[in-house]
Amino acid sequence: MKRQSAIGVALLALGLGEPWLGAQGQRSVVIRAGQLFDGKSDRLLSDQVIVIQGDRIAEVGPAGSVKIPAGAQEIDLRGGTVLPGLIEGHNHMFKVGDHPGAGADASVPLVIEPGTPFSTAYSTILASINARLDLESGFTTARDLSSGGTADVDLRNAINEGLIPGPRMRVATEGLRGSIAGPRYFHLVDSPSEGRKQVRIQLKNGADFIKIYAAGIRANPDIGYGAPTMTLEEEQAIVDEAHRQGVRVACTAHAGVAVRQSIEAGCDSLELVTDIDAESIRMVADRGIFMTFGLTITKIQAKSQNFPMAELSKASFQRALRAGVKIAFSVNATGAQGELRRLLEIRVPELIAYQNATYAR
Ligand SMILES: [Zn+2]
Repeated sequence: MKRQSAIGVALLALGLGEPWLGAQGQRSVVIRAGQLFDGKSDRLLSDQVIVIQGDRIAEVGPAGSVKIPAGAQEIDLRGGTVLPGLIEGHNHMFKVGDHPGAGADASVPLVIEPGTPFSTAYSTILASINARLDLESGFTTARDLSSGGTADVDLRNAINEGLIPGPRMRVATEGLRGSIAGPRYFHLVDSPSEGRKQVRIQLKNGADFIKIYAAGIRANPDIGYGAPTMTLEEEQAIVDEAHRQGVRVACTAHAGVAVRQSIEAGCDSLELVTDIDAESIRMVADRGIFMTFGLTITKIQAKSQNFPMAELSKASFQRALRAGVKIAFSVNATGAQGELRRLLEIRVPELIAYQNATYAR
């Protein structure tokens, strides 16, 4: 894809073979763009100049109207299209699904042997590869919704310190879930006071925000949506404690009671919604709650379901878009290019799809 290669060239030319994003010092770089997508306009701008100082964009404007700092490094992309760094809103760098024998359905061994994909060290190595692939695909920010431990803090810090390439990361450490299912990726919480304590522990360990898994099961109207993994009281306690500590809460809620309960509990975002009714959409829009959908992974998972999960998810997404809900681009795994393709496939206009990945729309 032409745009991708433009990003690749820009990242390369910015010297990202050495220190990574955020560790660029104060030098000036000028990019001359044949076409520019600014992330907000619904049209491309021609013949633009971008001035970058350190790790900040200082100025953008038509060639000739922008002052070029003395001694700036110039990158000529007049033959290409330039767009801002993309944001991956719901990502799991530490998912090892592509690794043989370690997919989402694999059971975690009781004793985790060193040198296997389930060991923290091995999965961190895999995550560092995912982080590099994300950056090379143009994603300069990623929000990781639970690594199941604290290795995401190490990965985030190593990227920030310039040790390895990757996007700027916001991490959740361990997600919180009731004991309705096993502990993979989660810390199990079964009372309001336990919820408050776990919020404090995750923040002490370096979490940037708190993740709750509120959904009981995947949405299935035929068999009912299942109870949420925790009560409203437990979810409210977690949200309240997080807000008291000044951080946001992301709540995965696929459908039914879990969605409505998460809205009432005060969650700041509803993640991976599969089926949401019109009344809940109105509540989400009124309260300014963000939503993510993960349309591609839902379409893949729908193949093994006995109900039209992909269609429900698509209809919910379009309902949210029409209602003016703030929707963040999300993958729920790594491999963000597939999600961009899915947005185009369900006929979201191309530039809106890219707007979605450059800021939450
Ligand atoms: Zn997720």
